[in-house]
Amino acid sequence: MTRRQRTTATGFVHAGSDPTRRHGYVNPPVHRASTVLYEDVAEMDVSQADPLKRAMPVYGRFGTPTTRAFEDALAELEGGYASVTTCSGLAAVTTAVLAYARAGDHILVSDSVYVPTRKFCDSLAGLGVETEYYDPGAGEAIGDLIRPRTRLVYLESPGSTTFDVQDVPAITAVCRPRGIVTLIDNTWATPAFCRPLDLGADVVVHSATKYLTGHADSILGAVVCTEDSFTPVRQAAIRLGQCAGADDVYLGLRGLRTLGVRMREHQRQATELARWAAKQPGVARVLHPALPEHPGHDLWLRDFSGAAGPFGLELEPRFGPEAVDAVLGRLRLFGLGHSYGGYESLVVPTDPVAHRLPGTWAGRGPLLRVHAGFEDLDDLKEDLAAGLAALSPHAGPSR
Ligand SMILES: *Cc1c(COP(=O)(O)O)cnc(C)c1O
Repeated sequence: MTRRQRTTATGFVHAGSDPTRRHGYVNPPVHRASTVLYEDVAEMDVSQADPLKRAMPVYGRFGTPTTRAFEDALAELEGGYASVTTCSGLAAVTTAVLAYARAGDHILVSDSVYVPTRKFCDSLAGLGVETEYYDPGAGEAIGDLIRPRTRLVYLESPGSTTFDVQDVPAITAVCRPRGIVTLIDNTWATPAFCRPLDLGADVVVHSATKYLTGHADSILGAVVCTEDSFTPVRQAAIRLGQCAGADDVYLGLRGLRTLGVRMREHQRQATELARWAAKQPGVARVLHPALPEHPGHDLWLRDFSGAAGPFGLELEPRFGPEAVDAVLGRLRLFGLGHSYGGYESLVVPTDPVAHRLPGTWAGRGPLLRVHAGFEDLDDLKEDLAAGLAALSPHAGPSR
């Protein structure tokens, strides 16, 4: 297993691209398509016989050459065999899970997953699939939770909002010999900073809405597969009617070309902002894997080659919801809104206590998720300092 195998700068620029196939144009056209016309009946028969609808153009829902260009590039960047495009990141999650989960199965899902992923997994009870949430710190102890009907383990590392880093190689090493499929959400790190297939995972899901497109102008998802996982995932996508719009896949592909450069800058901005934020009055701690005090720092050093833009900002426990509202109300540069991965800085309040199992989240104070964009760092610090200054009238008794 090659750990920390890097996707190179050259890779981002050229992955999956063959301009000679398109008269030399650097970028593929945006294909807008439903119907594909066949030359003759024989060609139609060949396309009908292809179960994965991929050997030749069949129908717009199965993807166009624009889709294929995005899929090929992403698969190469992740070190995968092939990838499958979906209409959103959440659709990538649901398609990947439904490719495997069957009535009577038990699935293990990290307690720190993106909340809509959790809600989807909860809803699987209606289809006879039992979801059990595990402590993201489990590592090889995941083996103790495996049952005869355990079909898959779903990871996300670092976890949404609390940024717990998982021991991915330990978990995949337990699962692989038992035939249990491991799925992992790699939205935070992107292939710029982590390639989970190299760590033993079978399926990687992405919200391409975030860094891959990178400009807050599209909703898109992707599932990257090994040769073994490609057939079930592609089949699930076909059965579910998954497809993405022509402009969105084009923007996804265009985003990949600058991903390496953008991630380096997000890393620089976020790491510096996080270090600074950790020292500000009213802040209990900062949850950012690149900071040495982060509990997952050593695992992050081992398995990742960089750190992305979002991190957690935990306020001191003496502050309540009004204090959080005061901070958010004072910010001018940080936008108040969902998502991340665009060029602009964002902040959003999060509430892990409302969703997680008792005991797997050790925080006590109110939590914010901060995404560092490309604004001037001094401007960002000034804005956040002004926001945090709004805490003081809400201080209450110090504990
Ligand atoms: C945003 C997000 C998703 C869902 O992506 P959409 O494109 O908004 O559907 C899934 N996983 C993670 C970690 C995310 O941050």
